[in-house]
Amino acid sequence: MPELTVPELLELDRRHVWHPYGPMPGRQEPLVVESASGVRLRLADGSGELVDGMSSWWSAIHGYNHPVLNEAARGQLERMSHVMFGGLTHEPAVRLAKLLVDMSPEGLEHVFLADSGSVSVEVAVKMCLQYWRSLGRPRKQRLLTWRGGYHGDTWQPMSVCDPEGGMHELWTGVLPRQVFVGPPPAAYEESYAEELRASIERHADELAAVIVEPVVQGAGGMRFHSPAYLRVLREACDAHDVLLVFDEIATGFGRTGALFAAEHAAVPPDVMCVGKALTGGYMTMAATLCTSRVADGISRGEVPVLAHGPTFMGNPLAAAVACASIELLLGQDWLTEVKRIEAGLRDGLAAASDLPGVEEVRVLGAIGVVQLDHAVDMKAASEAAVREGVWLRPFRDLIYTMPPYVTGDADVARIARAVCAAAREG
Ligand code: PMP
Repeated sequence: MPELTVPELLELDRRHVWHPYGPMPGRQEPLVVESASGVRLRLADGSGELVDGMSSWWSAIHGYNHPVLNEAARGQLERMSHVMFGGLTHEPAVRLAKLLVDMSPEGLEHVFLADSGSVSVEVAVKMCLQYWRSLGRPRKQRLLTWRGGYHGDTWQPMSVCDPEGGMHELWTGVLPRQVFVGPPPAAYEESYAEELRASIERHADELAAVIVEPVVQGAGGMRFHSPAYLRVLREACDAHDVLLVFDEIATGFGRTGALFAAEHAAVPPDVMCVGKALTGGYMTMAATLCTSRVADGISRGEVPVLAHGPTFMGNPLAAAVACASIELLLGQDWLTEVKRIEAGLRDGLAAASDLPGVEEVRVLGAIGVVQLDHAVDMKAASEAAVREGVWLRPFRDLIYTMPPYVTGDADVARIARAVCAAAREG
């Protein structure tokens, strides 16, 4: 096929290619990205570059085209890009597992290398259900979560997304029926903690696990809540024989100002999912970690194996890049960088508070959110950001940013200006 012009490419894209939550044929005209380097996306239409305020959905924490990650990918490519994981193993996967175990909250000892965030949540759910089956308690097969969450687009993850979040309403009544409590308030409220305890106690006989995003609910609404609720969950789960799963796919690897958000409360989960920034946003890979209690329980069952094994499990290329990304992160003062971005976003987004239609401005770590009191006009808001030279992806009533940690102060200020412009015009 000859090289495509931008209009040709867009026409073929519209006709043949599904985009996230998109219709077929496509209605919106996506921007065509030619290349990406540092924190900038270069557009193919010759209009120049955009500063990436999205880190490609929380993942590209070191920016694009990073020499260290490139080298890790290149070096591994020369050795082997993929080999099946059944009956074989390799250094990148083993090194990655060890790095993850060493850096993760206490007690997480065993790692399943999944190929996407949603799959890592599926695996987490299977681990929990299987654990209770193995212990002779097969009735414990439901999950409890709070509203406002998002855990992915495959079947079990969809069942624990906010049923009123508008993302999966089509499947109401078809998905597994889970137990929902209200969304966690931002500040600690004893009455809400009581509601959590009471719901866990009431449903304990049928609950396999509680699954939540700790401290920050991402795609379900970009809301922050008190870490103290994590302690409440831990205590209630322990008191009533329920496992606790933290979905750190969005929050992991420093985004909230802690390596994992669970650290804000020093609460270790039984199972933890990570993804997105695991490979610095280079490759598709995620992981599910669990404690020895969970693994030993599974091993004691009638079927003593975890029956999950995707083709690209433990992909060496992704694992090698993930190792390099983690070493890059831990080898620098990442917390100072995240705090620097937090301060820049606080400064820059303060102006948004006074805009008409803005309900709230929230900043935590390298996450900045402007909540509107109305549904955002996505097209107008994105275009306003692009005019400021910044890539944002507003949704629902939210304009938000989670830039790469390598974003310089001037670019952080620019992103904040773009968020304000998008809030004004969206
Ligand atoms: N859990 C959380 C908290 C997420 O933010 C996401 C992705 N937005 C997922 C799970 C699903 O991950 P993936 O898109 O890689 O399947």
